[in-house]
Amino acid sequence: MKQDYVTDCAECGAPCPAVFKIPLCHDCAVKKTRKDFLKFVVLPVVLALFLYWFATMIFQTSEHRVAYTLLFMGVPYGIRRMFLWVIPVGYGLAGTIGILALNIIVGAVIGVVVLVYQLIKAVVYIVKTIIAAVKIAGYKKIEILQA
Ligand SMILES: [Zn+2]
Repeated sequence: MKQDYVTDCAECGAPCPAVFKIPLCHDCAVKKTRKDFLKFVVLPVVLALFLYWFATMIFQTSEHRVAYTLLFMGVPYGIRRMFLWVIPVGYGLAGTIGILALNIIVGAVIGVVVLVYQLIKAVVYIVKTIIAAVKIAGYKKIEILQA
């Protein structure tokens, strides 16, 4: 008895069972799972660890190293949000520096929120990857049955 393929792969058009929300054949599912894992787990975690390592070196002896480390780590994530708020015009040198510093701190705090969000997302994607791996493992069986 021939089992029917349910649908076509959204990536390459190969016939495949509808295991995923977006139908993908075995190879495309593996490729997409790997890509997502790299993009949403490996990359953000490696970047965060690198920044953490860098910050601990700089602020090793600092009194407020926890706060400084956190803010330092937030800067790359919040950099797009910096200087969007207050553009220092006509404040004199001291005022300008003060406002620039405020911008950086606000940007860093927003960056910390972005960083935490990315790390939570990384945990979610670890779970997603495990689920996808289980589905892909089940998939092989379907394809062997049909062969
Ligand atoms: Zn495919």
